[in-house]
Amino acid sequence: MSAQLISGTALSQQIRQDIAQRAAVLASAGHPPGLAVILVGDDPASAVYVRNKVKACHDLGFHSVLESYPADFSEDALLARIAALNADTRIHGILVQMPLPAHIRAARVIEAIATTKDVDGYSVMSAGELMAGLPGFKPCTPWGCMKLIEATGVPLKGKHAVVIGRSNTVGKPMALLLLQANATVTICHSGTPDLAVHTRQADIVVAAVGRRNTVTGDMVKPGAIVIDVGINRNEAGKLCGDVDAESVAPVAGWLSPVPGGVGPMTITMLLANTLESAERAANS
Ligand code: NAP
Repeated sequence: MSAQLISGTALSQQIRQDIAQRAAVLASAGHPPGLAVILVGDDPASAVYVRNKVKACHDLGFHSVLESYPADFSEDALLARIAALNADTRIHGILVQMPLPAHIRAARVIEAIATTKDVDGYSVMSAGELMAGLPGFKPCTPWGCMKLIEATGVPLKGKHAVVIGRSNTVGKPMALLLLQANATVTICHSGTPDLAVHTRQADIVVAAVGRRNTVTGDMVKPGAIVIDVGINRNEAGKLCGDVDAESVAPVAGWLSPVPGGVGPMTITMLLANTLESAERAANS
């Protein structure tokens, strides 16, 4: 048996078609969804991520603003820009690209973004809404993972899911989303003594670690759904995830590839959150 690939590229295209149609309705009424992206510093990877997000906005007919500032931009100046964007009615989502330079407190910046425009879903309020099961913006990467899992058609109720990683942006919200879908959830982290004991029992494994070959074929239950969130490079400099696809593919039932799995879904869910914010603004 060989795992079916869950293509984030193909699923993104489908979801983006729907987003583009709904964005066109808003645009025809004079209110296109608007996303502001702020980049501070000259980290090359961040510059690529930001460019991809702005391009995705253009492709879908969104209004988008890219604000780039030098690495020595002050925290106060950044907070002032966020306040201005909070008040700008053409902007429905604000994204500050992480990581920020060390002199800027990321938590302060995230909390400065209006909850109604927190389309990354990183603020304490958004995290609380997710935990309480209230409507709010779900963090884009875990929400994209949920869409990939749903695309398999496997009902999640009663399934055992193992999430590897407990970051505030990926692991913890991922576990909450799986819990909301009625899976039984185990969260593993760097203090988990024997990862394989847990993953071998899992119907769904989500690997969000940032270390390649964290999940190998001998750690996976036959037929399991394996979602690879990690972004790493192998010795040859080639992009790879946390999952050893070569050994896992013959065992798993479904596997999301890297690249072309979670990555495109993350941007798609950012667009979905921005559209949702714009629709709420138009209806209010
Ligand atoms: P992070 O904040 O560094 O968290 C990594 C998590 O992995 C931590 O909870 C850590 O445990 C755990 N961990 C480390 N070593 C482990 C081990 N040997 N066994 C089990 N758990 C271990 O990273 P993140 O922001 O969550 O991102 C995780 C990965 O996903 C990274 O490669 C990142 O680049 C990628 N990512 C991809 C996308 C995308 O769109 N494709 C988006 C976001 C992130 P402790 O808490 O105990 O330290």
